[in-house]
Amino acid sequence: MSTLQSSEACVGWKTAERFPPILIQATRWAGAMDVTPDAIPVIGPVTRLPGLYLSTGYSSHGFGIAPGTGHLLASLIDGSQPLVNPSSFAFERLGYS
Ligand SMILES: Cc1cc2nc3c(=O)[nH]c(=O)nc-3n(C[C@H](O)[C@H](O)[C@H](O)COP(=O)(O)OP(=O)(O)OC[C@H]3O[C@@H](n4cnc5c(N)ncnc54)[C@H](O)[C@@H]3O)c2cc1C
Repeated sequence: MSTLQSSEACVGWKTAERFPPILIQATRWAGAMDVTPDAIPVIGPVTRLPGLYLSTGYSSHGFGIAPGTGHLLASLIDGSQPLVNPSSFAFERLGYS
């Protein structure tokens, strides 16, 4: 456990002590995160599977950028002008075809 993680757990535990037992705060978390090899999301179609669109790989920033990513994905699906160039987010850039 790194120093940072250790001090975060300590702060979390001290905060938990101030609440009644029913509101005990979790001090540890484990789970899978969606991270791509280049840490840039995948937003758009999978060329070899027509009709399949991906929106993933947000590396723990998916809530904050959801309005923009949702808008981009919607425009790629309905064929309207995208707000940004979608090529940076293409699934195929990762070497899959
Ligand atoms: C610890 C942690 C902290 C984070 N902190 C932040 C933050 O501070 N700010 C921020 O912007 N983002 C944060 N994120 C990232 C954010 O939570 C995600 O980017 C966002 O939730 C992704 O939304 P989503 O709808 O694409 O996927 P999800 O929220 O993962 O939703 C997918 C849903 O599909 C369901 N599902 C999966 N497979 C199936 C199946 N076969 N059939 C039916 N249902 C299925 C799952 O149960 C789930 O409910 C954090 C993520 C983590 C893990």
